[in-house]
Amino acid sequence: MTAPSALGRWQRPLCTTIVYAYVYVILEWLFFATKQSFLTRFSILDQLLVGLIAPLPIAACVAVAFGGLWAVARLAPRSPLANGLLWLSWWLPSGIAVATLLLFFDTFTYTTFGVGVRTTEGGWRAAYSLGLLACTVGVQVRMIRRSRTAPAGSVPRGLCTAAIALIGVSLVAVSVRETTCLGEDGTASATRPVQKRLPNILILSGDGLDADSLSAYRYDRATTPFLDSIKDQALICENALANASATAPSITAMLTGKLPTRTRLIYAPDILVERDSYEHLPGILRSLGYRSLSITDRIHADVSRLNFRNAFDRVNFRGPPGGIEQTSGLDRLFLTSATSCMGARFASELYFHARMRERISNRILHLLWIRDMEDPMAEVVDPEQQSMGDAERITAVLDFIDVSEPPIFVHAHLYGTHGPLYASREAVFKADDAPSYSTEAYDDAILDFDRYMRQIFEHLKRAGGLEDWLIVVTSDHGKKWRSNRVPLLFFFPRAAPSGIRVNNCQLLDIAPTVLDALGVPVPEWMQGRSLLVKEPDPLRPSFRIIPGAVEYDLETQEVWKHEQGPPFHGMAFLSATICHKNYRMNLALNEQSMRVMERYRAKQTGVDPQQDRKLHRSGRITVLPVKGHTGPCDPKELPTPLEAQEILTRHLESNGYDTSGL
Ligand SMILES: [Zn+2]
Repeated sequence: MTAPSALGRWQRPLCTTIVYAYVYVILEWLFFATKQSFLTRFSILDQLLVGLIAPLPIAACVAVAFGGLWAVARLAPRSPLANGLLWLSWWLPSGIAVATLLLFFDTFTYTTFGVGVRTTEGGWRAAYSLGLLACTVGVQVRMIRRSRTAPAGSVPRGLCTAAIALIGVSLVAVSVRETTCLGEDGTASATRPVQKRLPNILILSGDGLDADSLSAYRYDRATTPFLDSIKDQALICENALANASATAPSITAMLTGKLPTRTRLIYAPDILVERDSYEHLPGILRSLGYRSLSITDRIHADVSRLNFRNAFDRVNFRGPPGGIEQTSGLDRLFLTSATSCMGARFASELYFHARMRERISNRILHLLWIRDMEDPMAEVVDPEQQSMGDAERITAVLDFIDVSEPPIFVHAHLYGTHGPLYASREAVFKADDAPSYSTEAYDDAILDFDRYMRQIFEHLKRAGGLEDWLIVVTSDHGKKWRSNRVPLLFFFPRAAPSGIRVNNCQLLDIAPTVLDALGVPVPEWMQGRSLLVKEPDPLRPSFRIIPGAVEYDLETQEVWKHEQGPPFHGMAFLSATICHKNYRMNLALNEQSMRVMERYRAKQTGVDPQQDRKLHRSGRITVLPVKGHTGPCDPKELPTPLEAQEILTRHLESNGYDTSGL
């Protein structure tokens, strides 16, 4: 039997570690809960549950670690080995304490003075690193000293009572959390069609591509010579529309076949939750045995950050420089075991854990000089500062294709055309002194996108497998986030079918079309339609959300922000495009924003606001033609602005939005 005093020596670091782990997680939770974060859209109860449940797995790991150390130490009590293990065990609470201090200090200095780990370079970075080291050693020495001076054999009652109480509270929280099961319909799974070989799939999207600016869509500059040369083999959607005007919700609609009004993923930091995290094209393809890769940017449209679960095998560049992260093994465990309810039930905690891990590891890796911390905005808007450019993205895609066993699924999103500064490797249209936000610079960036496309096609051709690929070329929204038509071309294996779709297609249709081509039934939860066999209904409304950023009124110099709160949570406008007309509804709930909107419309249409009001009978709807539309309908078939408002309002209501304020 071990003497109580010996047990007491172990209890002290154990209870300290558990209490510190709770303090750490709860402070992190407070950080997320008090700012705009993925928690914002959760109910208060769900927010609390995340904070209370999240420390539990850490406490369990701590208990297991201590159990192991204690069991070994018991073999030779009071030997140098036992003492050494006890000394080792104190590194756990001191490590957590240092991490807590680092995050607390860094968050404080960064939000107050704009200075933090992220901004340190050279001498300052070295000073921070030394500070971290000194702090770690100092805390460790202090803890061991305090434990030694404690009366022999004493059990730290208060500390251990606190640890037990905290675990108890977490367990209650677990029992309160409702069970969400993914159910028999498998959410994201399909049975492999027996009759045919599965093609490899590539969805290649360029950010902010206007169809009107591609020579493949009859633009007068030869911006897409390669696409022009192969477009005869494609099924081309002449009038394709995005379902959101921002990257993340648009890519999400593309990969899930669900509208942002259903998933509620409107803008960062919104994420997919519950079933939506598991219902997507990559999940279905994975169940069919596809090996998959997602390459976007690491911050805004990263599918792991958007909480696509059980989706891609590999996501972006993470981990060691140049490495590509394997998606969470923990997540895989939850799903592949018999406990398929568990993954969905604790998806929010798993997500919170991933964000916590990222926050601390980014800082530690920066201070250990292993990897620089990222600047989220520069990642997409400034080509000079991107940690990963389009060339690296393409290299990663080709490397993945070369080493993976088919069937392969890749989604790659390129950013050279994002803006406001456009990136290209060569200036063809742009004069040397022209600004890099000019139309010519944009056209050069499209030409660059076309070159990347050529690089991929030629690589696949050389490898001898081009005819086994289903390739989709598209974009997430028009130039500068506008509602223009986007390119959408399907290259099916052996070019069958090819041709033209004139009626409106949507990005929402990509996932159903891919599944249809595979011979896999399209799940009911997908809201798009397969474009494989026939033209879509010309009068089908194509819904599109426009997240509320900032509106600037040129006349009055007023700047105002759309309401971020309920009921529309950052969605500023909802539009429906029916045939060649776009009906955009303002969802603002205050008068001022309505007036700004009216002036905006007057400018667009050249109609006097007073008269315009009479004309539309509703101040909320703006009707504009879709630029360059190639299949206009008889105007008599189109809804009036008031009818369009009805359609849009009904759409919101059917998705559970409270429209009483409109
Ligand atoms: Zn975008």
